[in-house]
Amino acid sequence: MDNREQDVIVVGAGNAATCAALSAREQGASVLMLEVAPEDQRGGNSAFTGGAFRVVYHGVEDLARLIPDMTETELRDVDFGTYTEEQYFDDMSRLTQYRCDPDLTEILIRSSFEAALWMREKGVRFQLGLGRQAFRVDGKFKFWGGLACHIWGGGKELMKALHVRAARDGITVLYDAPAIALLTGDNGVKGVRVRQHGRLRDLRAKAVVLACGGFEANAEMRARYLGPNWDLAKVRGSRFNTGQGLKMALDLGAAVHGHWSGAHSVAWDLNAPPFGDLDVGDRFQKHNYPFGIVINARGERFLDEGLDFHSYTYAKYGGEILNQPGMFAWQIFDQKVVHLLREEYRIPRITKEKADSFEELAPQLEGVDAARFLDTVRAFNAAPRPDVPFNPNIRDGLRTTGLPIDKTNWAQPLDTPPYEAYAVTTGITFTFGGLKISNEAQVEDTTGRPIPGLFAAGELVGGLFYHNYASGTGLMSGAVFGRLAGRNAARWAKSGSHTGP
Ligand SMILES: Cc1cc2nc3c(=O)[nH]c(=O)nc-3n(C[C@H](O)[C@H](O)[C@H](O)COP(=O)(O)OP(=O)(O)OC[C@H]3O[C@@H](n4cnc5c(N)ncnc54)[C@H](O)[C@@H]3O)c2cc1C
Repeated sequence: MDNREQDVIVVGAGNAATCAALSAREQGASVLMLEVAPEDQRGGNSAFTGGAFRVVYHGVEDLARLIPDMTETELRDVDFGTYTEEQYFDDMSRLTQYRCDPDLTEILIRSSFEAALWMREKGVRFQLGLGRQAFRVDGKFKFWGGLACHIWGGGKELMKALHVRAARDGITVLYDAPAIALLTGDNGVKGVRVRQHGRLRDLRAKAVVLACGGFEANAEMRARYLGPNWDLAKVRGSRFNTGQGLKMALDLGAAVHGHWSGAHSVAWDLNAPPFGDLDVGDRFQKHNYPFGIVINARGERFLDEGLDFHSYTYAKYGGEILNQPGMFAWQIFDQKVVHLLREEYRIPRITKEKADSFEELAPQLEGVDAARFLDTVRAFNAAPRPDVPFNPNIRDGLRTTGLPIDKTNWAQPLDTPPYEAYAVTTGITFTFGGLKISNEAQVEDTTGRPIPGLFAAGELVGGLFYHNYASGTGLMSGAVFGRLAGRNAARWAKSGSHTGP
């Protein structure tokens, strides 16, 4: 690789970065990508995903444009419903406690379908999220959380497709090449300092797109920004997202945005490795707690498992586990719901116990006050409930009353042995705080002006997520803002203005 000046350097090689690179290339720019990881571990968190992809659609016709190979059976047996812009806005607003940046949220939502079509054109394939996001009731699947569309083959196939296209479009990726600083000149950013094979190199470019993730894999930054014990959380995905991109931009006077003490985290197998394992992907997660109960070391329930569909609670309940004694919990199910448990409950590397009675199960729940656990189950089973049928496809209103913490949906008694228990801890997914960008994806400085030549996309953009998150939005945010950042970086490179030719 020679040292010629590039039009655009993209830092990172995950979803946001490859979308930015492809989009810049589309504008005729020369593009170089920098990836800290070796090639076989490229793709950051994006490579670990199950591929949930939150996109606006107005019915089966829209989905058919994304998934033209839907089968006759799917077309017959699925109630696709809709996921309108209004529903998306409502989810983003409600879950973030009305804090999400209105401009960025609008761009995300209004561009989502177009971004999905664009990715399809780049070679990404989609499929229906049956099983994960729809259950079969009375012979029909129904999508309950707006998430009909998934990336076929999950994150692995997503990254394969995008990188195949990047190679075809003549985009070079440097692997084992961590960016460590931004280079600046009289007129803003003019390149990136990179460490490759132990040597520092200064790579020149007219514009730079930062798309290199948050600080979730950096224990020191987690403790510093998220608070005590977050340094002990397991990392669900890439070990390479250590906040370097954020530091580089902050060193240049970039403004911050969003929820810097907040993060997306979930219930994750207690004995999962400290960082993600690409062979297991997202399957250390345990997302079906709405159909059972969750207890802590004291043997007590500590959250409303049935507050909402897991898509709307899972990303904040990981943090609730962090606050429990010993930082672990057990999810308990009976046989009535075992058929609803996702495949992640059947992987070989799992911390699981099973018994024919609660008396037999209690001592098997390591670290748990057995007597108190038995009291908790008895009280849960005895709590009054309305006479409504259990239905996993709707918030069924089958709730308890009178408990210290009631379960407000899907609260069937646990009465059908054998009982199954799964041990979980906190797995952090990504951090919410990030850089402040303009509506053109330019990074702003602390005075509110764009830093010339610097653009950003993906996890390291702040302002979209606060407190909670609607599943499938991370990949969509990377696609929408990656595409925007790449296009505007290319235009900047050509004309010194993002509105360019
Ligand atoms: C287990 C798991 C499951 C998930 N499931 C879903 C899902 O189904 N749907 C969904 O929407 N979201 C999901 N997410 C969230 C989603 O992965 C992220 O929101 C999204 O992928 C972030 O994309 P990104 O491109 O910003 O970051 P990443 O994909 O993490 O990419 C960052 C890139 O930057 C590189 N990098 C970091 N530092 C440097 C540096 N200094 N120099 C050079 N390169 C650097 C990394 O190696 C990587 O290539 C999941 C996350 C995890 C961990």
